[in-house]
Amino acid sequence: MLTEMQIAVIGGDARQLEIIRKLTELDAKLSLIGFEQLDHAFTGASKEKIEEVDFSVQDALILPVPGTSLDGQVETIFSNEKVVLVQEMLERTPEHCTVYSGISNAYLTGIAKQANRKLVQLFSRDDVAIYNSIPTVEGTIMMAIQHTDFTIHGSNVSVLGLGRVGMSVARTFHALGAKVKVGARKSEHIARIIEMGLEAFFLSDIGQAVSDSDICINTIPYPIVTASVISRMPAHTLIIDLASKPGGTDFRYAEKRGIKALLAPGLPGIVAPKTAGFILANVLSQLLMEDFTKRKEIEE
Ligand code: NAP
Repeated sequence: MLTEMQIAVIGGDARQLEIIRKLTELDAKLSLIGFEQLDHAFTGASKEKIEEVDFSVQDALILPVPGTSLDGQVETIFSNEKVVLVQEMLERTPEHCTVYSGISNAYLTGIAKQANRKLVQLFSRDDVAIYNSIPTVEGTIMMAIQHTDFTIHGSNVSVLGLGRVGMSVARTFHALGAKVKVGARKSEHIARIIEMGLEAFFLSDIGQAVSDSDICINTIPYPIVTASVISRMPAHTLIIDLASKPGGTDFRYAEKRGIKALLAPGLPGIVAPKTAGFILANVLSQLLMEDFTKRKEIEE
């Protein structure tokens, strides 16, 4: 249980509701910032404005998946108010206060460092990234269906990257009957792709590999789908770029060539916010409990 723990949940989308539900179930006391338009009330949680929060009693701050913008603004879909997190707020928290977000940027990392507070990026954890790849793949299938006039079954699908997302994408499209080939740069990844019963290619041969692609799914956060790669694709190829913004595709050239290329960030939050929130809530509650127990042991 998280009885006695005081946590500020600052901004976010529907995923945050699962986190709030889970933490209130565990008896934590919550300050909700950026939720005033939310009709639902949670026992043990009070809606507050950021300037009203008593940061000196917060054991943890929970930010939405993107963290903050580069000027400290926090996304709030349940509020019209501007919520900005500044270093001075972190400095007012107790020394043990931990900041949790999905990912970080220079601003958030910088203020956490300056204030000497621990910042945990949940998406850098393998378990979260692997669980999260499940709704990501479902969203990718949705996009492939919406933007093509042929079935996935029997189509040529090239997947770029065999990381946590790439592996799930490749396996699922293969299971749907697509002819999947996967591109990677490491020989152990090539071996794994072959072990999975898929066609493998080295990324150095990407131009040749995509020349018969009906769908090309990129998971590499690096400019990999360049103009010269796109120029080798058939005119009907659909590019779905899953890599974090700005993606790995030359979108300008794709448009010029008349190839449909879609940057598709944040699919779990779009297609399955409940599941995506549940994944985060489970990991967060486990981390908060570990933190709480450790702190109690030190105090005793
Ligand atoms: P990951 O496990 O780190 O995999 C990244 C893959 O990209 C690895 O196979 C890596 O290969 C390869 N790679 C990285 N830099 C490369 C380069 N310069 N050249 C060639 N290959 C390179 O990451 P992930 O969890 O699969 O996530 C992949 C991307 O999808 C990330 O940008 C992530 O933010 C994003 N994502 C998007 C969604 C969405 O909804 N669109 C959801 C989840 C994640 P090596 O092992 O050889 O480095």
